[in-house]
Amino acid sequence: MDFSVLRKQMVAEQLVSRGIKDERVLKVFSSLPREKFILSESVASAYADFPLPIGQGQTISQPYIVALMTELLALSGSEKVLEIGTGSGYQTAVLASLAKEVYTIERFAELSDKARDLFKQLGLDNVKVRVGDGTLGWPEEPPFERIIITAASPRLPLPLSSQLAEGGKVVFPQGEAFNQALTLIEKKDGKLIEKNICGCVFVPLVGKYGLKES
Ligand code: SAM
Repeated sequence: MDFSVLRKQMVAEQLVSRGIKDERVLKVFSSLPREKFILSESVASAYADFPLPIGQGQTISQPYIVALMTELLALSGSEKVLEIGTGSGYQTAVLASLAKEVYTIERFAELSDKARDLFKQLGLDNVKVRVGDGTLGWPEEPPFERIIITAASPRLPLPLSSQLAEGGKVVFPQGEAFNQALTLIEKKDGKLIEKNICGCVFVPLVGKYGLKES
């Protein structure tokens, strides 16, 4: 299977055609081997326009949603980013290619360990990995200029709002199971300003300041 052809098609047909414009984002999606982050039984669908299972009942989002969330963060290359929900590590790898450093937290050690191995394999040495409840943030490392949560929560977990830098941005799916709005938050003069981007469906953010396990 020629993944480079599928990757090129995905960028043109799923990202550019739907309005992703950031050249740096498009460049990363054109080169990052998404197939490495996909379970072997689903690898033929690595570049398909839908989410895929990654184990532990979790999913990797479709390429467009990963690209949209990344574009909304407007990364220039100098940012310290906090990511909640490492999952397969694909979104993390995208962020690590576009920002200065990425701190990523995952609640399942099995997913985190696998992702860590991939970061090493791909030479992404600006990623710090932690297993635990990401709703608590990474208390030793704030402020973060960008925060991304890749699981659904009814609100921005309180510890994360205090770990966000002034002028910083957060993107996350806000809502309950099966009914969420992709939300962009900006911190201006200490206030959080919210913008609703579009509807979306993510697995729940399970933790102290998120949702309860169902
Ligand atoms: N962005 C990931 C990727 O590219 O594969 C997909 C993330 S998946 C949609 C959401 C992830 O959030 C899951 O792996 C899930 O285990 C994790 N998660 C849920 N609640 C969490 C929490 N409180 N702390 C850390 N990770 C959490």
